[in-house]
Parts: sequence; C-alpha cells; structure tokens
Amino acid sequence: MGICPFHGSCLEGLAAGPAIGARAGCKGEDIPADHPVWEPVAHVLGQLCHTLVLTGVPRRIVMGGGVMVGNDHLFPRVRDAMVQSLAGYIALPEIAEPAFIVPPALGGNAGPLGAIVLGEQALAERMGTAASAGAFTTP
Ligand SMILES: [Zn+2]
Repeated sequence: MGICPFHGSCLEGLAAGPAIGARAGCKGEDIPADHPVWEPVAHVLGQLCHTLVLTGVPRRIVMGGGVMVGNDHLFPRVRDAMVQSLAGYIALPEIAEPAFIVPPALGGNAGPLGAIVLGEQALAERMGTAASAGAFTTP
C-alpha cells in the first residue's frame, strides 16, 4: 500500500504526494476533496499529530508541505482523526479547536523563509549582535 522504498507503509510511504497519487491513480492536484483516498491520509496524519501531542505537548501544530498546502479540507479531517485517536487520553481541550492544527502563515514559502531567518540569526550571533526581528516576521 505504501510507496516508501525503505519502509513501505511508513508515514511518508502512505501520506506523501506520490503515495496519494499512486493510490488515487492521478496527480494529487487533480484529486477532489471528496475522493476516498483522503480518508486514510487524514488517519495517518492524525496518528502523527496524536504522537506529537503525547510526546511534545505542543500548543499548536503547523502542517505544511505539498499535500497540506492547497488541501485545506485536510485540516479538520486530520484534527478529527487526532481527537478520535486520543479518545480523551489527554485533558487538553484546545486540541479540538480549529486553531490547533493550522497551515503555515507563509504557505509554501515557510521553509525557505524560515531557513533565511535562521541564517540571519546565526550571522547576527556570529557578529555578536542581537538578531533582529528581520523582514520576515509575520503580521
Ligand atoms: Zn519510510
């Protein structure tokens, strides 16, 4: 079922764009929101969030990448899958809120811009100056 060359049905093997496309038989951007292929994707991503909640107790989970960006319908599905999987095991009512699992505010640019900010901070540290807020802060 999964396409990971190392593990078969690991998270990436099940929920990466090529895996979803292979199961649906078409490119990811052509898969409608009501296609049944999204249900197992939401399930495995919900399992990931379940693990993140129990191991790191995050205040928010930001999910980006090619699958999540452009598929806003996945956010409530992933959140529902996570809440259902946790089944009340942890008493954090905020995990059921829409703002708990969100897309990156910078969309597809979050990764490259984050790397630039980290580089800016490392340079400022090396230069002995405090890192500036930079031009890449979000409103
Ligand atoms: Zn793998």
